Amino acid sequence: MAEGDGNGWVICARGHRHWGKYGAAGLLAGAAGPDGPPSVLLIHRASWTQHPGTWGPPGGARDSHETAAGAALREAAEECAVPPEAVRIHGLLDDDHGGWSYQTLVASAASEFPVYPVSQEAPEVTWVPADRVESLDLHPGFAETWPVIRAAMDPVTVIVDGANVMGSRADGWWRDRAGAAARLYGELAALAGRGVTAWPAELGLAGLDRWFPEYVLVVEGQAKAAVPALGEAEGVRVVAAPGSGDDTIAELAATAGGRRLVVTADRELRRRSADAGAAVTGPRWLLGLL
Ligand SMILES: [Zn+2]
Repeated sequence: MAEGDGNGWVICARGHRHWGKYGAAGLLAGAAGPDGPPSVLLIHRASWTQHPGTWGPPGGARDSHETAAGAALREAAEECAVPPEAVRIHGLLDDDHGGWSYQTLVASAASEFPVYPVSQEAPEVTWVPADRVESLDLHPGFAETWPVIRAAMDPVTVIVDGANVMGSRADGWWRDRAGAAARLYGELAALAGRGVTAWPAELGLAGLDRWFPEYVLVVEGQAKAAVPALGEAEGVRVVAAPGSGDDTIAELAATAGGRRLVVTADRELRRRSADAGAAVTGPRWLLGLL
């Protein structure tokens, strides 16, 4: 176990020769472009590399002790100076060849940030409008996965109707609403770390192997007493509704970026959320994951 111990060639089960003894990982970062259409950060590989002159996301061999996300962020920093805090990873695509796999971490940035070539391996790095990616000479592995990744570039926000979800399990929540809210928060924090492998049909989204949405837990009434004591788990935000929780949820359903999934069984709120352009599913989907 040492830095760089993943460097080396392997032959996968399909008979290809690949770089990375423990597999490889890359970072596909998307951002809203300056004029609106989304763009992705790509590197142009040098003439002496395995697939000379091709374009693809920054990435490379994983070391034995690294997670795929750790390797992808390290390579993105080493190849084009991506600051790890500038991107949020929201999905994972595992292109497994048997004996070797390439894991693409799908990430999003609030806007394009400055990048420049750091490594001789990639003399050119740039933001490319998503519409133009297919017109480039793409790295063969990236060319295969790009259509799937493109459909999954929008991050997902899961808006949780705290009162409704807590109320749908008979665990004594009515005796201590703040305690029940804190429990739900803890469960969401754990789920945010694990990620989800499938969406409810209502969202109509598939393709990646794992998704890391942002969860927004909306609490109201007595449950709000829990908020000051909650931690700051990555991927979970708590919103204390100033008035009716439904109004706050309907507003989030209309204004959160990317795709929105509202979790509630409340019929009127389901209608309002759908009118706001969000997908809606019942608490059962979420409770099954906690
Ligand atoms: Zn292969």
